[in-house]
Amino acid sequence: MGLIVQKYGGSSVADADGIKRVAKRIVEAKMDGHQVVVVVSAMGDTTDELIDLAEQVSPIPAGREFDMLLTAGERISMALLAMAIKNLGHEALSFTGSQAGVITDAVHNRARIIDVTPGRIRDALAQDAIAIVAGFQGVSQTSKDITTLGRGGSDTTAVALAAALEAQVCEIYTDVDGVFTADPRVVKKARKIADIAYEDMLELAASGSKVLHLRCVEYARRYNIPIHVRSSFSGHEGTWVRSKPDVAAEGEEGMEQAIISGVAHDTSQAKITVVGVPDKPGEAAVIFRAVSDAEINIDMVVQNVSAASTGLTDISFTLPMSDGHRAMEALTKAQPLIGFDSLRYDDQIAKISLVGAGMRTNPGVTAAFFEALSNAGVNIELISTSEIRISVVTRVDQVTEAIRAVHTTFGLDSDSVEAVVYGGTGR
Ligand code: ASP
Ligand code: MG
Repeated sequence: MGLIVQKYGGSSVADADGIKRVAKRIVEAKMDGHQVVVVVSAMGDTTDELIDLAEQVSPIPAGREFDMLLTAGERISMALLAMAIKNLGHEALSFTGSQAGVITDAVHNRARIIDVTPGRIRDALAQDAIAIVAGFQGVSQTSKDITTLGRGGSDTTAVALAAALEAQVCEIYTDVDGVFTADPRVVKKARKIADIAYEDMLELAASGSKVLHLRCVEYARRYNIPIHVRSSFSGHEGTWVRSKPDVAAEGEEGMEQAIISGVAHDTSQAKITVVGVPDKPGEAAVIFRAVSDAEINIDMVVQNVSAASTGLTDISFTLPMSDGHRAMEALTKAQPLIGFDSLRYDDQIAKISLVGAGMRTNPGVTAAFFEALSNAGVNIELISTSEIRISVVTRVDQVTEAIRAVHTTFGLDSDSVEAVVYGGTGR
């Protein structure tokens, strides 16, 4: 029996009873003969509450103090969980991210892990203790300040530790039974995926599926750590996220067929349209340089054909809603350089993506996708495609119909309702 890393999300440890329930599960894994390292998130809505609190005392909380505040959430759950485990007669020691050796860059609120040196975790395991680590946090190598990894970052802590400790598996416990073919909160007939390759999971996470943090999947792929996503509220087998050969060994599907993984959606994006841009070389470069200098990641881009009479064109792109304000500021500043007429900002949009292998070589997939949306009366505003994904932007108030229509069209509906949402928050 080897070493396993288990991660419990906020809804699994929402209150004292949740913590005691999780403590029992952890002890069971220990009794099965495993060495157990646990990564834990803040209880329930704690992180949101801390953010609210910060905004009440200062509209623009500074990075360093904001991180110091937010990491308190995970420290509360790690200490309580260690106490609950001790109460069951087993040794447990809790560690902050910094104590666990999670070393990051110095970027507050969205730091990246650059090294993991889990000496103290190994010592704890050598003493036959269960190690409990606060998720979502680390310490900067240069500034020595406490950092956080971005919302949902505890998943990444777990996989990073699993890689550093050469764990046999990283189990991510959440409030649903695994990764589904669509968000089970929206599609009741969503099906649980038994096995999915890192590549497809990356695409789902990048397209808005919140079940796993995007960077956690990138990390797992790089170090080839199998992830088992499952519920802490049931004993069901969950979803395995692993390398392509391992997934292929399990599946019986024909290799040349398009294999649809699922439908993801994202309502956290906004769309900016730059209206009346002179249609000449270099204009797009100036626009996107201005946005990139403001450190904003853009997603989909569309440029319209220019009207012959004016020689002017419109360029639209999507970006995280939380960066909308800064992007508008950056573009307004660059207006003299770019020479556009006006800017339009729209945050009432949703992105819907169909993810699966073999999209590009199965043209029927694209046609069926658009037919599904058209039959549901959903208007499409932007389109982008890749080898394993088709995404469209629609009005946000049509997102539910759109997802359900696509899900049904691709035969993803399950015969029975198997998508139980145990927690309700998706943590
Ligand atoms: N507590 C943090 C959040 O709510 C990190 C996590 O749960 O992964 O975003
Ligand atoms: Mg999460």
